[in-house]
Amino acid sequence: MIKTASTGLLAIEGCEKVVTSTFPWPIYDEQDVQAVADLVRTGQWGNPDCAGAVAEFEQQFARYCGSKYAISCVNGSVSLRLALIACGVRPGDEIIVPPYTFIATASVVLEVNCVPVFVDIHPDTYNLDPAAIEAAITERTKAIIPVHFAGLPCDMEAILDIARRHTLRVIEDAAHAHGAEYKGQKLGSIGDAGSFSFQSSKNLTSGEGGMVITNDDALYQTMNSLRNVGRLPDGQWYDHFNPGCNYRITQLQAVLLSQQLTRLEEQTRIRNENGLYLDSLLENIDGITPLSRGQVEIRHSYHLYIFKYDKATFGMLSKKEFVAMLLAEGLPCSSGYPHPLYKQPVFQEKNWLCYALPDSVDYSTVYCPVAERACADEAVWIFQQAMLGTRSDMDSFADAIRKIQQAVNQ
Ligand SMILES: *Cc1c(COP(=O)(O)O)cnc(C)c1O
Repeated sequence: MIKTASTGLLAIEGCEKVVTSTFPWPIYDEQDVQAVADLVRTGQWGNPDCAGAVAEFEQQFARYCGSKYAISCVNGSVSLRLALIACGVRPGDEIIVPPYTFIATASVVLEVNCVPVFVDIHPDTYNLDPAAIEAAITERTKAIIPVHFAGLPCDMEAILDIARRHTLRVIEDAAHAHGAEYKGQKLGSIGDAGSFSFQSSKNLTSGEGGMVITNDDALYQTMNSLRNVGRLPDGQWYDHFNPGCNYRITQLQAVLLSQQLTRLEEQTRIRNENGLYLDSLLENIDGITPLSRGQVEIRHSYHLYIFKYDKATFGMLSKKEFVAMLLAEGLPCSSGYPHPLYKQPVFQEKNWLCYALPDSVDYSTVYCPVAERACADEAVWIFQQAMLGTRSDMDSFADAIRKIQQAVNQ
C-alpha cells in the first residue's frame, strides 16, 4: 500500500515522529472546576428564566462580539434554526448554502421546510463565491447562510451588497469563527444574525451549546421567545405566545463558558499569529498551498488551518495516504469531508421525511467542482488545538510535510 515502505524514515514505518508536542483540548484549570463546583452546590442548575449565569454569559458574549443581543441555546444547529425562523422564511423558500460545511448548515434549512440551494466555494478560500451566489438567486431565494469556514471570514462586503440588491437575509454561520474579525468587526455581528456552536471541538466550548447574536430588536424578540417555549420575558410562566420549544442551556454550561471566554481573546491571537507564520513556511513547499487570507484586514480564528495538497509533487501519493503519514508524524490533522454535502443520502434520496422539498428539486444533478476537488484530492485540515502551539511546533509541522515529500520522492 504505502509506496515508501522501503525508505524506513517515516513514523508510519516505525521511525521517530517529527512533531513531538501534544495539543490538549479543551483547556481548563482549577478556576473552571471551582466555578462549576460552586454552581453545583447552589442546586440551581436549570435556567427557567434565562437569568443568572446564563444571562451573564449572554451579556459577556454580546459585548465581546460587539453586538446588541446574544441568545444562548442548546447547540449551533438550533441557533441557525432560530435565526431562519425569525428571518421569516416560509415553506419552499430557497436558502443559499455552501456545499463544503458541516451538515447542520443545510439540514436546518430542511427542518424549517425550506430548500437548500448549494452554491460552490471559491478555490482560494473555500468560502462561498459571491459571483456564484448572484447566479443562483431566483424569485424564491430568501436568505444566504455564509459559513466562515475554518474561521476565515467570507467576503462580507460582496455578500451584503448582493443581499441588499435582492432583499435577502444574511445569517452568518460562525460556528468556526469565535473571535475572528473582518475589517475590525467580529464575525457573526455583520449580517442579520450570527450563529455560534460551543460543541466539544469548537474554539469556545462547554461540550455542547450554541448562541445566536443580532443587532435587530425584532429578530431578538422572536428568537428569545422561540428558545423559551414561546414565553415572553414579561409574561406568565404558563402563557405561551409563539410556536417555540425548550432550547435553553443549563447554568452549568453558562459558568463554564464564562470561564472559557476569558481565554478566547489570547487563544485567538495565538492561532492567528501561528497561522500567518505557518503560511510563510508552507508557501515554500512545492505542491502545498495554504488557503488565501485575501487582501482585506482580517483576523482568522483557525478552527482549522487548511492547506491544499498536490499529489503530483508527492510521488502521486493519495491525499488519504499523505494524511495517514502526517498523523503518524504526530500532527493532529484530517483529510476533511469525504464528499460535498449534496452527496449526503438525505439529499440524494429525499425520503418521506423531506416532504417539504418540491419534486422539481433534484440534488443528483448538483455538481460543485471546487467543493468536489477540495473533498477528494486537495484539502488537508490541521485542528485548532495544534494552532495553539509554539513557533517551533509550527516549524515541526512544516518539517513533517517536507520529510514525507523527500521520502516519497526518493
Ligand atoms: C459545529 C457546526 C455547527 C453546529 O453544530 P452543533 O454541533 O449543532 O453545535 C454548524 N455549522 C458548522 C459549520 C459547524 O461546524
